Amino acid sequence: MTQQILPGATLGVLGSGQLGRMFAIAARRLGYRVHVYSPDTDTPTGQVADREFAAEYDDLDSLAEFSRSVDVVTFEFENVPSSVTDCIEQYAPVRPSGAVLGVAQHRLTEKSTLRNASLPVPEFRAVSTLDELNAAVAELGTPSVLKTSSSGYDGKGQRLLRSPDETADAWAELNTDDAILEAFVDFDCEVSVVAARNESGEFAAYSPFLNTHSNHILDVTLCPSGLGSEIESAAVGIARTVFETLDVLGVLCVEMFVTKAGGILINELAPRPHNSGHLTIDAHVTCQFEQQVRAICNLPLGSTTQHGPAAMANLLGDLWSNGEPDWLSLLSLPDVKLHLYGKNEARPGRKMGHLSAVAADLHAAEQLVRNARNRL
Ligand code: AMP
Repeated sequence: MTQQILPGATLGVLGSGQLGRMFAIAARRLGYRVHVYSPDTDTPTGQVADREFAAEYDDLDSLAEFSRSVDVVTFEFENVPSSVTDCIEQYAPVRPSGAVLGVAQHRLTEKSTLRNASLPVPEFRAVSTLDELNAAVAELGTPSVLKTSSSGYDGKGQRLLRSPDETADAWAELNTDDAILEAFVDFDCEVSVVAARNESGEFAAYSPFLNTHSNHILDVTLCPSGLGSEIESAAVGIARTVFETLDVLGVLCVEMFVTKAGGILINELAPRPHNSGHLTIDAHVTCQFEQQVRAICNLPLGSTTQHGPAAMANLLGDLWSNGEPDWLSLLSLPDVKLHLYGKNEARPGRKMGHLSAVAADLHAAEQLVRNARNRL
């Protein structure tokens, strides 16, 4: 029997960064209460939540208290051990489930699961010793990409191998016994599909986002992607198969490479809303965070129709290097939307906020956010 969790109920979120903040804002707009759990206080999510639980992720008593106080739990920070989701699942449903989390937080499990489901992934080999790395490089060649299986994000925990001589150095640098070597993908571009699925089996996807990175961190997202309907529907079809294979309830993002030959390979899964989906707040009928609320509460999913061509540019902590950015100058641009995450400390590479704009065409939207960011 599927059950709906209606407005007035309390939603729990594990992790307290910007994704939780935007989820909490969407949830409160719909009349839900929000409780957040993380080791910190005065967090981006805690600032807008009804209640902030500050305790370590392995503090099972505090986790139990948090879980008893909510009707369902979702997360915005997925690098938690399975003991955490096992504990929560005793008191409240966790969406997506701990099993989905377990797949998405371990690159080798993720790639193997996807490949076993006949989903397209780059060629890869499991690597646990330097000898295995050398053997894998002999098979896959160079360039290739060595990645730790766990805890990598935004290019951390990975190394590009340009030639077989670099293996010893790279292995020492990664300092792990659980890694994968991936064939280098000579991609034309990177896209992501953010989608949602509820317990009734309803599925809804946004049309693919086109992403450009700088220093391995997402920099600018554009939608529509301009890739044409054939590649776009193939990308959405792949996302749908991922949701059905893993039985995902909630929101998940599939990051993909589009190869020069027009093929698609999955790079990774993020079992939550994604940075590339932030433009849905201003550009789509239902934003990814409201969709997360709807999906985890088993409500009907909202429309993913887009109001117009849109662009998003991230604001990283580097912009604070000469003090507080010139917000007044930015806010004098009437067509650009500013989102700041309430983080107290700006560090280089730290995601502090983003800008988005909807315009008559994609180029105009991109120019709006790029020019606006240049003012800071
Ligand atoms: P990841 O942390 O796996 O998302 O990787 C971060 C970025 O590194 C990706 O967005 C790509 O730009 C690049 N990258 C990762 N894996 C590969 C690969 N196998 N081939 C080429 N580029 C890659």
